[in-house]
Amino acid sequence: MTDAEGRRAELAANLARVEERIAAACAAAGRPREDVTLIVVTKTYPASDVRILHELGVRHVAENRDQDAAPKAAACADLDLTWHFVGQLQTNKVRSVAGYAQVVQSVDRLRLVSALSAAAARTGRELDCLIQVALDADATGRGARGGVAPEGIAELAAAVDDAPGLRLGGLMTVAPLAGPYAGRQRAAFDRLMELSSRLRATRPAATMVSAGMSADLEDAVAAGATHVRIGTAVLGVRPRLG
Ligand SMILES: *Cc1c(COP(=O)(O)O)cnc(C)c1O
Repeated sequence: MTDAEGRRAELAANLARVEERIAAACAAAGRPREDVTLIVVTKTYPASDVRILHELGVRHVAENRDQDAAPKAAACADLDLTWHFVGQLQTNKVRSVAGYAQVVQSVDRLRLVSALSAAAARTGRELDCLIQVALDADATGRGARGGVAPEGIAELAAAVDDAPGLRLGGLMTVAPLAGPYAGRQRAAFDRLMELSSRLRATRPAATMVSAGMSADLEDAVAAGATHVRIGTAVLGVRPRLG
């Protein structure tokens, strides 16, 4: 077996295990499997892995650093893939990100909304935006890994409503490592669902709820997540922090 064949077999086996976990979690929650979209987080891994994943049926991938994502997306431009951006985003990277991402999951401040809107206008494409909610927000209203405090959702949602080229897709969170929800993934995801219900009361189209990673996808599916973001469980332990 060549290295490439070996990698393909490894990714296929990992993907099958993750698929089984999602299916089991859906069954346990009484939800149809197609309610939950798998997004594979390919950060730190090469375009060749993205290509294999596409062959294996993956259609959603996510990245968290524009420097890595932009060349990778360009190398995979021939593939039918939806690219999600899930990292903290500086406004000077927005133009690049809008060039390949269809979904930005880390919208957490007004400046980013206006920059994304301007970039979407340039590309002539609509960008789906998720508001990243920080359940560990401190007095500044911001989380350690990005995100806005729950109290800031309404203002951002209104800004996205008014921004040409942007569509409000819903909410995203990362289970916090600190604060009252540390180590309580299920409670954190239940809280996100509550915030999502409140948002959907006035914006019924904002149905996306992105929560759950390799370690806690079951909690996310049980809570009602529509999108899970899985890196390690599909690609392996990352060679460096990403
Ligand atoms: C890296 C990353 C993931 C995937 O995490 P794993 O634990 O490797 O599954 C999900 N969401 C975000 C925002 C990430 O940065």
